[in-house]
Amino acid sequence: MSDNEFPVTKFFGTDRRGFLRAATGAMAAAVAVPAFAQSSVKPNEQDDVQLSQIHASTEEPEKIPGPMEAEDQRTGYAIVGLGRLALGQILPAMGKSKYSKPVALVSGDREKAMKIAAQYGIKQSAIYNYSTYDQIAQNPEVKVIYIVLPNSMHAEFVLRGAKAGKHILCEKPMATSVKECERMIAACNAANVKLMIAYRSQYEPYDMAMVKMIREGKFGKLKQFISTNSQNQGDPTQWRLKKSLAGGGCMPDVGVYCLNAARFLSDEEPYEVFATTVQPKDDPRFAEVEASCQVIAKFPSGFTAVFNSAYDAHKSQFLRVEGTEAYAELNPAFAYHGIKMKFTKFDQGMEIAHEPALEEKDQFAAEMDHFSLCVQKDLKPHTPGEEGLQDQRITDAIYESARSGKPVKVSAPSTATRGPNPAEI
Ligand code: NDP
Repeated sequence: MSDNEFPVTKFFGTDRRGFLRAATGAMAAAVAVPAFAQSSVKPNEQDDVQLSQIHASTEEPEKIPGPMEAEDQRTGYAIVGLGRLALGQILPAMGKSKYSKPVALVSGDREKAMKIAAQYGIKQSAIYNYSTYDQIAQNPEVKVIYIVLPNSMHAEFVLRGAKAGKHILCEKPMATSVKECERMIAACNAANVKLMIAYRSQYEPYDMAMVKMIREGKFGKLKQFISTNSQNQGDPTQWRLKKSLAGGGCMPDVGVYCLNAARFLSDEEPYEVFATTVQPKDDPRFAEVEASCQVIAKFPSGFTAVFNSAYDAHKSQFLRVEGTEAYAELNPAFAYHGIKMKFTKFDQGMEIAHEPALEEKDQFAAEMDHFSLCVQKDLKPHTPGEEGLQDQRITDAIYESARSGKPVKVSAPSTATRGPNPAEI
């Protein structure tokens, strides 16, 4: 599921593989365009789109550059886990990326992987399953492994990927515990490979513009952050509602967007959180995880963040940052497309509102290209493992506060959690 732009209720009542087959059919249709072509399919239009089936059953011939053509400088990616995000966003985004290309797939469903490989011109010899995954070490075309698995599988596949000597891009949330995050960072350091967490919002033009405006002092002193990220989960059997696979409910999945935004916008770290969670007893979807989470986070400068997330409310997502001189909103804030900003200040009693129109960029292409450049130029990524680790520390404190009913202190990170700004690379 996207976070969350696909109609999840549509798949209600199927088992996981059944659901995945259904999803794959839909996704394969959505990506049934020539390899690297840009998809014009918008998420909400998927039901109306009739695209032809994939016919190719064999691998596409590799393109050998002619004598006058520059050699392909794009970094090769292995995509691990061919679910909704990989098929609906990440692989199509490769068509919009300048420095990244898919060269391998890792999946538990070979038939699906073969179709997708044919679609994207990936060699069938570069299709792995979860047991043969380690053989990726012998594939020189793979420079980066992109982990797009359920949350509790991230740690294992990052550790094995690092051992295979590959750089790792890992989906959010980084893992399901602080210990796992620390192990992932240590393994990548030991193997001398880079680790980046896929916080796509930090590569999104409006978010980046807001960071710049805040740093330039356009808001005055930052005072408050208010945000929500809610959606209504359908299928009660999905892994997102199983604690062992998801690590938690709405908080690590969608609440983490609000938390991460409060941190990267303010460039501060919260020292204390106070939180509640709601787990309704009469809703079978929430036997194991929370349906909603409400958080107040306090920062050293006096800045506060108040944010909610939910798995049982209508889709809704916004954020607002308030300073002494101005405030601004993103609404929607965390969508794949169509993010809008409104900047407001009062001058001698007159409201002056500005709604900048920035060029939309594919967030996944931007994030992958940033990582590819970091790999190519040997630079620290903007959102390395340390960024994910700090969100996990705070998430743990949020759950502890919800359990105890008391505010919980959060320890500050010992080193910077973010690398150079993507715009500077
Ligand atoms: P899906 O359930 O759609 O896909 C997960 C894939 O993982 C499956 O298709 C399957 O691939 C593989 N898998 C392996 N073992 C299991 C298992 N036990 N149960 C379920 N799947 C399994 O999830 P998403 O694609 O929505 O999410 C994957 C990751 O991406 C999560 O960490 C999520 O938080 C993150 N995400 C990030 C978003 C963003 O905007 N950055 C948006 C959505 C998700 P196969 O069939 O190929 O084996």
